[in-house]
Amino acid sequence: MAQLFFKYGSMNSGKSIEILKVAHNYEEQNKPVLLFTSAIDDRDAVGYVSSRIGLRREAIPISDTTDIYGIVKDHQPKPYCVLVDECQFLSKDSILQLVRIVDELNVPVMGFGLKNDFRNELFEGSRWMLIYADKIEEMKTICWFCERKAIMNLRVIDGKPVYAGEQILIGGNDTYFPVCRKCHTNPPLS
Ligand SMILES: [Zn+2]
Repeated sequence: MAQLFFKYGSMNSGKSIEILKVAHNYEEQNKPVLLFTSAIDDRDAVGYVSSRIGLRREAIPISDTTDIYGIVKDHQPKPYCVLVDECQFLSKDSILQLVRIVDELNVPVMGFGLKNDFRNELFEGSRWMLIYADKIEEMKTICWFCERKAIMNLRVIDGKPVYAGEQILIGGNDTYFPVCRKCHTNPPLS
């Protein structure tokens, strides 16, 4: 039976590179996969899975009106796996379509994303992935400032930590840092 996977991690935990690796592994064995990503993420360009180490490839952008289920159902040949980057930005309806892809089409879906935002509130898409996923896995990375595991994302503007404001404001390395809880509360910014 196919399963719904949710692999979450803080910024820079290697989510995008993992997607590109999994896709490559399937395709090396002539097993087609379908890649999706949120249409919200415009760090690079809409419709790409991009890793910080420079690899990237095209992906189908998901907006709130995208018929993800229909795209997968109608795709020929049938994909062996569906990979979704930036799951945190997806709506509940989009996540429920991923559930139907697993349960009705028997295609495994691997979703990747951030769990909590810089205010330490759950992202909407991650909330529903945590509830619906068969398997949940943490992708680990180290705190930007110390030796602990990073479990939060610190937003920094003009050298100052920010704990309030709009949830979605896409940035790069200059505005968000993977941090441990202690460094999130008291970041050692100079
Ligand atoms: Zn730390």
